[in-house]
Amino acid sequence: MQNYWIALIALALIAVLLISLSGRRPAVTSPAPSQTPSTQEPAAQKSKAEWKEKLSPEQYRICWQKGTEQAFTGEYWDSTQAGTYLCVCCSNPLFEAETKYKSGTGWPSFWKPSSEQSVQTNADRGLFVSRTEVVCGKCGAHLGHVFSDGPQPTGLRYCINSASLRLKPPE
Ligand SMILES: [Zn+2]
Repeated sequence: MQNYWIALIALALIAVLLISLSGRRPAVTSPAPSQTPSTQEPAAQKSKAEWKEKLSPEQYRICWQKGTEQAFTGEYWDSTQAGTYLCVCCSNPLFEAETKYKSGTGWPSFWKPSSEQSVQTNADRGLFVSRTEVVCGKCGAHLGHVFSDGPQPTGLRYCINSASLRLKPPE
């Protein structure tokens, strides 16, 4: 009989414990709503499938499969128009037309990005050559490569695919 009461008390204690634990649960999850404002999805957070839908096949191949357009074929390789070159994917300002120069390579070439946040660089180690890849600082789209044979004052040559760019004329 004593065992019966001990078992009953033990069960009651477990029940109280479970109730108090389940009662606490809403308190644990309550900080979650403070994280919900971040649901404002930046353009940069699209999946590759979404980019594929938004871009032309050539733009997708270059931006998200690290492709390279044929020299002297892109829309901007020979352009001297004024304005700002934006990322074709997320409209991040990448390069100013004033820093574009004739490199003779057949790709749009710039000696400096619009700002420090415009682009990021990654070591791109190939089988025979290692180059420095340039990607959009906001969405990570592949833009081209940077070389150290550019003009002063930076001595850099940002060799960029036209397909990664969209020229925004000055306002
Ligand atoms: Zn971008």
